[in-house]
Amino acid sequence: MTDIPKDHPRYKSLMIRERLVEGFKKGVVVPQGLIAHGRGEAFDYLIGEETIEPVYKAYEASAALLLLSQNPIIAVNGNAAALAYEDIGRFAEKFNIPIEINLFHFSVERVRKIRELFESFNVKIFDVYDVELPTVSSKRRLVSREGIYSSDTVMVMIEDGDMPIGLRKIGKKVIAIDLNPLSRTARDSDITIVDNLVRVFPILTRYMDKLSRHGQDVIRRILEDYDNNEVLKEVLIYIVERLTSPGILD
Ligand code: ATP
Repeated sequence: MTDIPKDHPRYKSLMIRERLVEGFKKGVVVPQGLIAHGRGEAFDYLIGEETIEPVYKAYEASAALLLLSQNPIIAVNGNAAALAYEDIGRFAEKFNIPIEINLFHFSVERVRKIRELFESFNVKIFDVYDVELPTVSSKRRLVSREGIYSSDTVMVMIEDGDMPIGLRKIGKKVIAIDLNPLSRTARDSDITIVDNLVRVFPILTRYMDKLSRHGQDVIRRILEDYDNNEVLKEVLIYIVERLTSPGILD
């Protein structure tokens, strides 16, 4: 691992890159995943590398949807596992939500390696692909009958746009984690958390804890009042205002 001095101004961001490079060396991340990370980094730069105000509404709505769902599931790929398997594993364990390994660049070997990362958590992992989603043409169509196929809500992260639309066509609700508010994934999901995956699960945990103390009617109203397009617009306005604010280059 590269030695990155703690006082480097880009320390956090470089450490995130290191995790991906390590994941790549171990065969968890594919080369294309490194490029996808670059697109995410660019958007993280634009929002100031912190969770921004409008996105808290998406967090709250995501928690509401997860709490109201009968069979929610978290779909993970190589980048997600390399960047945040500890956070995802803890979250899945705490709220008893299963994980399914779902890969665009599918290989049995990579599925096994990703599975190993989650094995220390007490969580159900789906990695047997016994059915195909009729509405998805990439390898992501390979899913587990008991997992994604029977779920009502699927959480996806760091991916391109074929899965959310395919899942919604067969009646699933989709929560996406995607730093690009303009991506197909962001626009085609029911709820989009425009934030860096490495920041998402601790915040989502807080909302889950908070909302689970409320009655179903309150949780349902939060979901009914949520408008994903509005939130994406607010994110874009945030970025524009931030970039055109007088002190941006100070
Ligand atoms: P779409 O098909 O949805 O328009 P895309 O073609 O941009 O998406 P990819 O190139 O596969 O999709 O990139 C994956 C997405 O993941 C990008 O939108 C990128 O912004 C996002 N992303 C990358 N790294 C992270 C991260 N750490 N946290 C959240 N999102 C990320």
